[in-house]
Amino acid sequence: MARKIIHIDMDAFYASVEQRDFPEYRGKPIVVGGSPDGRGVVATASYEARKFGVKSAMSSRQAIQLCPEAIFVRPRFDAYKAVSAGIREIFGRYTDLIEPLSLDEAYLDVTVDKLNIGSAMEIAKQIKQAIKDELNLTASAGVSSNKFVAKIASDMNKPDGLTFIGPSKIEAFMEKLPVERFFGVGKVTAKKMKSMHLHTGEDLKKLSEQQLVRYFGKAGKFYYSIVRGIDERPVHAERETKSLAAEDTFQHDLITLEEMYTELSKLTEKVVLRLSRNQLKGRTITLKIKFSDFKQITRNHSFTQPISDYQTIIDTAKELLDNVDLEDKPVRLLGISLSNFGVLLSQPKPGNPYQLELFD
Ligand SMILES: [Mg+2]
Repeated sequence: MARKIIHIDMDAFYASVEQRDFPEYRGKPIVVGGSPDGRGVVATASYEARKFGVKSAMSSRQAIQLCPEAIFVRPRFDAYKAVSAGIREIFGRYTDLIEPLSLDEAYLDVTVDKLNIGSAMEIAKQIKQAIKDELNLTASAGVSSNKFVAKIASDMNKPDGLTFIGPSKIEAFMEKLPVERFFGVGKVTAKKMKSMHLHTGEDLKKLSEQQLVRYFGKAGKFYYSIVRGIDERPVHAERETKSLAAEDTFQHDLITLEEMYTELSKLTEKVVLRLSRNQLKGRTITLKIKFSDFKQITRNHSFTQPISDYQTIIDTAKELLDNVDLEDKPVRLLGISLSNFGVLLSQPKPGNPYQLELFD
C-alpha cells in the first residue's frame, strides 16, 4: 500500500511572524537577520522584500542595496518557538508520526490518521486552515507517497500552496527535475553533473547504479533509487534533530594515526550522506574517542556557518584528532557528529574558504 506523506513548510516563517505581531511591518519589505552595517546575513525576507531579489543567506548589505526601503528586524526565536509548538499541536490532531526538520517544517505520515479522514489532501487542507485560523499564518503543503517528492511539492506553489503528486505521476515528475533539486546534490556535485551533461532526472536515469556509485560515491545509490521515485525513508517520529552522528567500535584497537584516519574517512562518508538525506548542515563538528581503558573524550570545533561537505568535516576531524595525546592509548571507538543546525546571522570572516550557506 502506498504511504501518504505530507510535508508542511511555513511561508517566509520568521518574516511572517514579525508581520503578524507588528502591524506596522505588514505589506512592507522586511528582512529578519543580521544588521546591514556589519557582516549580517538575511535569515528570512518577507515576500515584499523577495520581489526586489532579497533572499535567505544573502548579505544584509546586499539586501539593502537591492531594496533600500527594507526594514531590518532582529530575530525573536522565542516567538518562533512558540509558533512552532502551535503547529506541532495542530499536526498532532491528525497523526503522531511527525518528523520536524526545523522550527517551521515537518513531515507527517498520515497513511493511517487519527480521525479516519483517509484523504491526505483533505488532512493537508485542514491543517493549513487550522494554522490560518488559530495562528494567523500561512503554510504550504506537499502531498505524495514519499518524503522526497512531498518536500519538493510543498515548495511548488508557495505561499499558501497545496500540491499533490500522486504515485503514478512521480516518475515523470522526477525525470523533469533539474539535478540541483535532488537530495544531496550541492553546488559542487551539480557542477560535476552538468559537466557530464547530466541536467535532469531523465539524464541521471540513463546511468546504471554502478556508474552512479563510481561517479558520485555512496550517494549514487540514493540517486539511483530516488530518480525512479523510490524513497522508502520512513517518517521518524522524533524530536527535532539536534545532532547527527556516526561512530564505530573496532574489533581491534587502533594504534596508528593512519588507521584512525582511514576510519575517520569512513565515518565522515556516513555523516555526509545522512546530512544530505536529511538536508541538514551543522556548525559544530565533534570528535568522540573511546580508549581501550573505556575512558572517553570529545573534542569539537565550531564554524561561523553551517557546513555539510566531506572535505571540511574530514579535515576538521583529523585536526581534532591530531591535537589529542594518543601515546600508549589504543583507540577502541571513534565517532563524528555534526550539531548546531541553527540559523546563520553573520557572514564568515574574510578569507574563510567555506561557502556561505544557510537553511531556513
Ligand atoms: Mg519555511
